[in-house]
Amino acid sequence: RKGSVVITGASSGLGLATAKALAETGKWHVIMACRDYLKAARAAKSAGMAKENYTIMHLDLASLDSVRQFVDNFKRSEMPLDVLVCNAAVYLPTAKEPTYTAEGFELSVGTNHLGHFLLARLLLEDLQKSDYPSKRLIIVGSITGNTNTLAGNVPPKANLGDLRGLQGGLSGLNSSAMIDGGDFDGAKAYKDSKVCNMLTMQEFHRRYHEETGITFSSLYPGCIATTGLFREHIPLFRTLFPPFQKYITKGFVSEDEAGKRLAQVAMKFGHNDNKSMKFSSVFISHLLLLSFTQVVSDPSLTKSGVYWSWNKTSASFENQLSQEASDAEKARRVWDISEKLVGLA
Ligand code: NDP
Repeated sequence: RKGSVVITGASSGLGLATAKALAETGKWHVIMACRDYLKAARAAKSAGMAKENYTIMHLDLASLDSVRQFVDNFKRSEMPLDVLVCNAAVYLPTAKEPTYTAEGFELSVGTNHLGHFLLARLLLEDLQKSDYPSKRLIIVGSITGNTNTLAGNVPPKANLGDLRGLQGGLSGLNSSAMIDGGDFDGAKAYKDSKVCNMLTMQEFHRRYHEETGITFSSLYPGCIATTGLFREHIPLFRTLFPPFQKYITKGFVSEDEAGKRLAQVAMKFGHNDNKSMKFSSVFISHLLLLSFTQVVSDPSLTKSGVYWSWNKTSASFENQLSQEASDAEKARRVWDISEKLVGLA
């Protein structure tokens, strides 16, 4: 049978490019979990995705009711779940005041982290049930949350502090809207949410990898300076950011290339397989068969608990996370508090 993959935020940018890359193999059925059904339908059509290779299902991560409804709908569809890709995100760098999810959490952390946290927790048993040889949970991370990098050192830097704002529910009322309890800063809230994403992936790995056999991974696909993520930024930034990334930092990566990278992580491809994606589907199916039977000579991208990145020649490597983004004690506390906030504990 075809592999079955749920991708959140597949209506644009990286999510759409990944959906397209996986659908094109003919070996995957993509469930596009999106908040705007029509936009997703148009996006899939204009990306040239064949109808039999995808299903669109409504999911608004800024509402925990919607997350639960999505999970119910998905379970009722009786489709298997082999790979879950937590990709959707909002970035609000110019916001002066916080905005909130349906339950009253600051929007960036509420959507990017808490919505995905509940989704992944509720779908874990479906992933576990999968009879596919490779089952994976991928949570998209970012370099910007990693203060051990140049990009991660551009202020405001990510910092979860002692988690007092998260503990208080990020409501901006009795507690701060920021995880560390500080003044609201939209750019920092995004970076903090990405640290939560990377901590969550590692905590999943520690708690569930051995027991379930699920591979948990995160990745930084490169700077995809052209996506809708920057839609809230000032126009001058949006004009200058792509050429700056292309010619100065050389960190720029196209949506197509980034989508292929994420698709590799989903499919267990080795790092030399960029080129092989262009080969015939027969070749790809052989390659998949090989990797699924664990005979693949290059074990890269198959390891659990890893944050993947790609170098300038598009080869994948196991990257180091910053001290905070790899702090096991903090990961455990973020997990415990998040559980309470989303109503799991
Ligand atoms: P886009 O803005 O193009 O895509 C984000 C997606 O998330 C959109 O499909 C959007 O839906 C969806 N989304 C936003 N809010 C919600 C919600 N409440 N419920 C459901 N879906 C929602 O950005 P990118 O493709 O760049 O971002 C994708 C991922 O890549 C993110 O996790 C981001 O952090 C990460 N990333 C991006 C980098 C870059 O340089 N662009 C670098 C590093 C990481 P809609 O189409 O309806 O707006």
